[in-house]
Amino acid sequence: SVSIRDLTLKFGSLEVLKSLNLDIDEGEFLVLLGPSGCGKSTLLNCIAGLLDISDGQIFIGGNNVTWSEPSERGIGMVFQSYALYPQMTVEGNLAFGLKNARMPKDQIAERIARAAEVLQIEPLLKRKPAQLSGGQRQRVAIGRALVRDVDVFLFDEPLSNLDAKLRAELRVEIKRLHHRLKNTMIYVTHDQIEALTLADRIAIMRNGIIQQLDTPHEIYNRPVNLYVAGFMGSPG
Ligand code: ATP
Ligand code: MG
Repeated sequence: SVSIRDLTLKFGSLEVLKSLNLDIDEGEFLVLLGPSGCGKSTLLNCIAGLLDISDGQIFIGGNNVTWSEPSERGIGMVFQSYALYPQMTVEGNLAFGLKNARMPKDQIAERIARAAEVLQIEPLLKRKPAQLSGGQRQRVAIGRALVRDVDVFLFDEPLSNLDAKLRAELRVEIKRLHHRLKNTMIYVTHDQIEALTLADRIAIMRNGIIQQLDTPHEIYNRPVNLYVAGFMGSPG
């Protein structure tokens, strides 16, 4: 579970998150939707511990992690621009975080084998990122979060750089992954179809505030305001 209490984040004088509150259940797939610049990536970065928040508190699995290091938070993150280490092989990229955490070699190999199987990247393990297609790179980026075996995944528009066909394929894989792992997922997207097919609940964000948090069905049929209705294309 993830709970966010009165989270405020400023970049200089710009208040990007405004006393934001959000509760995500254990094992829930939450999709975060909102226009460019509304603060989605900033929110994920705060949860991951990559930004110093101005005010408020963050709880993961009931623990107050507001001041914990990123590595102590039990989260795996897939970034908007999947930054793989170009000089390392796919295997090296997957192993990197685990080696840093001093995991035994045989255990690392086991984790990588499992993630590679799930994501269908076994034949690619010895290649370098430059020798991969966009979709393959994206799978490796997801794999890097997956091998860490964490309770909470943060995905920031993981499929936005892919063509429609690949996006549809990976969408199915991500859904399957979630069924299998039953991890808590916070997934940012601009894509309404992704939101409707993946989400247990959808959070609609605007100007650093959550406008509505509800099931896809409720958001579509009972938008709380005109903004949400317009964003979801609800019937008038
Ligand atoms: P997109 O859908 O385009 O990815 P987003 O909802 O993820 O948008 P954020 O990246 O969270 O938006 O940015 C929210 C606001 O904060 C924007 O106005 C952005 O310009 C600003 N911002 C983001 N990062 C910084 C930073 N490091 N320094 C100053 N301002 C920033
Ligand atoms: Mg973003």
